[in-house]
Amino acid sequence: MAQRTNHKGGGREDCCSFCGRRRNDVEILFQGIDSGVSICGSCIELGYKSLVDNDMLSTGARKKSSPAGEFNMQLDEVLKPAQIKEFLDRYVVGQDSAKRYISVAVYNHYKRLIGSKNPSVEDVELDKSNIILVGPTGTGKTLIARTIARLLGVPFTIVDATVLTEAGYVGEDVEGILSRLYQASNYNLEATQRGIVFIDEIDKIARKGDNPSITRDVSGEGVQQALLKILEGTVVNVAPEGGRKHPDQKFVHIDTRNILFICGGAFDGIEKRIAQRLNTRAMGYGRVNTESIDRENLMQYVMPQDIKSFGLIPELVGRLPVLTYMEPLSREVLRNILTEPKNAIIRQYCRLFEMDGVELVFEEEVLDYIVDKALEFKLGARGLRSICEAIMTDTMFEIPSQSIDRFVVTKAYAEERLERTSLKALKAAV
Ligand code: ADP
Repeated sequence: MAQRTNHKGGGREDCCSFCGRRRNDVEILFQGIDSGVSICGSCIELGYKSLVDNDMLSTGARKKSSPAGEFNMQLDEVLKPAQIKEFLDRYVVGQDSAKRYISVAVYNHYKRLIGSKNPSVEDVELDKSNIILVGPTGTGKTLIARTIARLLGVPFTIVDATVLTEAGYVGEDVEGILSRLYQASNYNLEATQRGIVFIDEIDKIARKGDNPSITRDVSGEGVQQALLKILEGTVVNVAPEGGRKHPDQKFVHIDTRNILFICGGAFDGIEKRIAQRLNTRAMGYGRVNTESIDRENLMQYVMPQDIKSFGLIPELVGRLPVLTYMEPLSREVLRNILTEPKNAIIRQYCRLFEMDGVELVFEEEVLDYIVDKALEFKLGARGLRSICEAIMTDTMFEIPSQSIDRFVVTKAYAEERLERTSLKALKAAV
């Protein structure tokens, strides 16, 4: 079926076989192949409605049918943790531990959503699996959060914790996070309430000093307290366009119980605290074998108490039960980031050139050179792109007006192009 016909005739196929209306009386008529049967758009619509009403749509169609958001998935339709990780593997290189933790957290999040829709399994209330990712900047924290949101097809927003202040102070209210999510969902309340928020630089709102301060700490503890409320799950009155500029707008009430929060932070210097803790334990109760500690990468031993001693309030740490770490990016991982992910930088350039009918080839040693430079300039993964841009910009300018069908980037060419670019400019681009 489903073949639109254009021919004009007067046969049976010129009427809808269901409602009997003629081609001229309907907007569209689909004709069955060799069956002599036709169906008009209105009858398809009626049939579709009947399937929806009787909950008889196939899974794929059902998902598409509810963009407005009623959550109606069953557990057997939810991706298993291994499948979620497999999807992450396509975009995020390395970071195995973080990917595993997050895959489980997301799966459990779905169980929670299903549980809350289905009272029979709600006898044990499932806690939210908000996540905190600890690790150096540029190691893929945002990328993981973004990839998860893409996989789940839920609204996603990134906020920078450093701009958040307590209500009434200059800066962005914590409720503003929800306005942004609401906007990202295209003002769809149901979808917003199942969205994902990535709060970056959570370490920057740490309490200064270990003692709770008596004076007001506008950008630190006060913000943590405000965040706590929305992380816990509560109904928040939110100004759809963000608070202060549009004072007359109507508030929407957003329930944050099923919004997943992923927080990320570099927590510079936290290794010292981890080492301290490990050393104390090595001597006292609950001894650990100091021999087996990998001192090169202490981040892997991070525990909630380290985050607390860094200055996040215990209540907030308690609301971020999934704690995992990001590995620093080794030379090998950087090299893979260039070429492996589905949307790897080098693949993107090849695609851009392909659209001009040009095959783009990078010599292997160019790729090593790019990685070396990223390491030398301490630019990390973010630097890979700016280095590639510096090498490729002139070529991208010239190629479309030339009639060639292949372009090879050699190391000499890359060196020559990069030497023209100042390190300052590269750093600014990162
Ligand atoms: P973070 O949030 O940890 O500061 P990002 O996720 O913003 O870092 O990463 C910056 C950029 O570096 C990303 O856009 C991505 O291109 C690249 N990148 C970083 N880590 C990885 C990784 N593990 N795999 C693939 N790309 C990565």
